[in-house]
Amino acid sequence: MPNARVAVIRCDTYDSRGVDAAVARGLSLLGGAAEFVRTGERIVLKPNLLVASAPERVVTTHPAVFSAVARELAAAGAVLSWGDSPGFGTTLGVGKRAGIAAAAGQLGIPLADFDRGRVISFPDGRLIKQFTLAEGVASADGLVTLPKLKTHALTRMTGAVKNQFGCIPGLLKNEFHSRMPDVERFSQMLVDLNRLIRPRLTVMDAIVAMEGNGPRGGDPRQVGVLLISDDPVAVDALGCRIMALDAGLVDTVTYGEQWGLGSSTEIEILGDELPVLADFVVNRRHVSTTGGAMSGPLVKRLITPRPFIAPERCTRCGTCVKVCPVQPKAVGFPAGDTTRVPEHDYGHCIRCYCCQEMCPERAIGVKVPPLGRLIRR
Ligand code: SF4
Ligand code: SF4
Repeated sequence: MPNARVAVIRCDTYDSRGVDAAVARGLSLLGGAAEFVRTGERIVLKPNLLVASAPERVVTTHPAVFSAVARELAAAGAVLSWGDSPGFGTTLGVGKRAGIAAAAGQLGIPLADFDRGRVISFPDGRLIKQFTLAEGVASADGLVTLPKLKTHALTRMTGAVKNQFGCIPGLLKNEFHSRMPDVERFSQMLVDLNRLIRPRLTVMDAIVAMEGNGPRGGDPRQVGVLLISDDPVAVDALGCRIMALDAGLVDTVTYGEQWGLGSSTEIEILGDELPVLADFVVNRRHVSTTGGAMSGPLVKRLITPRPFIAPERCTRCGTCVKVCPVQPKAVGFPAGDTTRVPEHDYGHCIRCYCCQEMCPERAIGVKVPPLGRLIRR
């Protein structure tokens, strides 16, 4: 008997009527929105608002998906708010650019407080016993997560589980990168964070996903589905299947299952057939990210993928330098000269890929050093 149910709903465009109908159909297959929220409950909607980017760039959750879910939950009696703590910029600024602020405004949904944090003790945490959550999350009765299906340099894919990282306000996110630079511990932290928050519902926007140099600098890829479930691990496992990526290589899925957050194998699919895109551009190398015993400094320098800058694309904006979480910075302007292309110090770099993630010009890619190419599949 499967212990996770995921509604897979075909939806080929962001036309609002089509998305509304798809979300309504998916929720109805799962018993209706009232299965997930009760009348009068304060529910915060958490789209992926990584950085200020227009919807057609597919960096952020599309506003049509946000609106469709919001309407259903409001009709079920939920009292809604919205927010995210972006990787760069303010919640409102990013929300405006992504079209979410306007969508929320039309529906009368206020912005939640994602600037201030509240310390929450979590004795059940397997790795982390205390988190600082955004006040808007800490004070809500529940959270509905609205991730976007994208590739990610550190975690291979970003979807439902990783979306909750934006519930940690501001620069506290950077601290986690520097405290747990290997992907295994970082993913375990994300699983604990999800075990604390326990999203009521996940609606993944995989109508147009991102492949390649994600989660910001990749390319749009038409997939044409929404994934809807109360199990974020199952949604991510199916996200991997769409990408033709072995979910066993994604630590948020592996630990999500092991630590009781959800199921990655026993999944009942409701609705439509799950598309599988064998040529989806994603990292399928077996040992390709920083992790576990492979995370010593020499190993890291010699074999783990490293960020690199394409000079012809770089505008010298300095974003990569600002977001680098290590001290001293592992990427910087040579001799402080801001007219030159920044350079990486690979001896210092912890391979968190925040610079690659945040570069607004898609000037930073990730490549495997020659030795790493020799010893990996
Ligand atoms: S963020 Fe990108 S464009 Fe800006 S300085 Fe760094 S590499 Fe250049
Ligand atoms: S240089 Fe880039 S990948 Fe390296 S630590 Fe800084 S932000 Fe992370």
